[in-house]
Amino acid sequence: MAYVITQRCCNDASCVPECPVDCIRPTPEQREFATTEQLYIDPDTCIDCGACVDACPVDAIFSEDDLLASLARFQDINAAYFVRHPLESNFEPLVPPSRAPKELGTLRVAIVGAGPAASYAAEELLRRADVEVELFDRLPTPYGLVRAGVAPDHPGTKSVATLFESAFRRDALQFRLNVEVGKHISHEELLRHHHAVLYAHGASTDRRLGVPGEELSGSISATEFVAWYNGHPDFADREFDLSGERAVIVGNGNVALDVARVLTVDPDVLAKTDIADHALDALRRSNIQEVVVLGRRGPLQAAYTSSEFLALAHLKGVDIIVDPADLELDPASRAELEDPDVEPSLKLKYTLAQEYSANTPKPGNKRIVFHYLVSPTEITGDGKVETVEYVHNELVKEEGGTVARPSDRTGSLETSLVLRSVGYRGTALADVPFDESRGVVPNAGGRVLDADGNPVQGVYVSGWIKRGPRGVIGSNRVDSQETVDHLIADFTNGKLVAPQADRQALAALLAERQPDMVGREGWKAIDQAERTAGKAAGRPRVKFTSLEDLLKAAKG
Ligand code: NAP
Repeated sequence: MAYVITQRCCNDASCVPECPVDCIRPTPEQREFATTEQLYIDPDTCIDCGACVDACPVDAIFSEDDLLASLARFQDINAAYFVRHPLESNFEPLVPPSRAPKELGTLRVAIVGAGPAASYAAEELLRRADVEVELFDRLPTPYGLVRAGVAPDHPGTKSVATLFESAFRRDALQFRLNVEVGKHISHEELLRHHHAVLYAHGASTDRRLGVPGEELSGSISATEFVAWYNGHPDFADREFDLSGERAVIVGNGNVALDVARVLTVDPDVLAKTDIADHALDALRRSNIQEVVVLGRRGPLQAAYTSSEFLALAHLKGVDIIVDPADLELDPASRAELEDPDVEPSLKLKYTLAQEYSANTPKPGNKRIVFHYLVSPTEITGDGKVETVEYVHNELVKEEGGTVARPSDRTGSLETSLVLRSVGYRGTALADVPFDESRGVVPNAGGRVLDADGNPVQGVYVSGWIKRGPRGVIGSNRVDSQETVDHLIADFTNGKLVAPQADRQALAALLAERQPDMVGREGWKAIDQAERTAGKAAGRPRVKFTSLEDLLKAAKG
């Protein structure tokens, strides 16, 4: 019997060093790690000890005997990885990460943002030095996209917050929530109170499509929709028109799949999750029967991961539809698929699309329909969305990869709701360098760089604002470790300036600037109240979705 890593793998690689026979791949040191969809266990080497199960923060690992039917295929998926990448012994010595020397005293770090990248960085700092970490967030709640981004029907992914909660019980870390950097405290003031400031505020806005009609009522960004159904206070009072029968999603990444599921699954299923009550009410009244997902490239280049695409097959009452004509591959894609060295995850993506293309819609079911090789050219309507005009694309190989080029074939879809799911985008913060073209803070391994490419003393980044909006929650662990490595090295080598003011001075300043600051006790009170309400309703939690209610709960 062997253990199997399944759909909700978060790629944080906590399991890798725990395996006594070193049979989990790829490891963070391997080239494949940067692009892998998930980690895999070699079934021939696994000794069935279960050490990885205990290490996994999102409960993604199961014994092959305990796999639910919906996860059964992951046994083959794990094994296939090792056919392509046979397990080789790793003789690299395990080097424990260095700690900052004690004689240097307490390292003070402000972390801006309290999402997964910030939290992994804080956890790493707590392990690597005598530190005082101040964790800032403009919301009264921590954990960023774990709370406001992960789809409510993926509760396992949210359990990573438990790992952070247990690491953050020490006073060495203080929550400074409901404090906005740039409004309540400036970058310069943060630097004055700390050796280093680490920005991990993510990518909070969306990319634009750049087509006429994008601003019409009924054309919304998926990022807003996601924030709305997850109860983000900035979006709680938004209203979306779900009265039409068809919604169109542009883009086919994992966010598009999250939104497509939320729009089509039985609301009674969502009622058992932590979805915001206002979203549940609206979805119960929704008339949407069909969600069409438009991908600008082909089924081999789709941005979703094969595991999330596979999971759609198990949605009750929802048919997944693919037009077989969309699966005809251009010669280059065909060659890629037939290459004996093809990545198993890529092959699976195509195999699944083929399987879905054999489905026919069942009466009474809702549908998620995938169209490939199409790009919207215009969204039209009289004051609100009525039609999406699109063009069929052809694939062209370029130096940077395979890109879509419009052909002269066009089409259109009637709809009253368009969700633009073409990726997140980072925003600039006052006094911090920013690369407008990429929407990230320029950096080298997490050290922020100025316009001349020189490191800015004491300023660091991690997460999406460092590398762009790619990767799953756990990808931020290795990313944040790299940044913290550099921060600790700079502290050890005397490259950081000692703070002019201490934690007490910071607390006094914040009390004056933001009397409604929420600390650990306040967050605990919110968390407890939400969980208590959830328990009564048979749900993990019932979220407060307005700032007012959150602050009232924080005051207990
Ligand atoms: P994404 O994976 O980058 O997907 C963006 C999609 O938008 C792609 O299909 C892209 O097509 C398309 N696109 C971009 N510009 C376009 C344009 N002008 N016209 C038409 N299509 C366009 O982004 P995401 O879905 O927002 O996800 C962000 C990250 O979060 C990803 O790494 C994702 O895996 C992760 N995430 C994971 C989960 C999960 O594990 N369950 C859930 C949500 C998000 P091209 O591929 O052709 O560029």
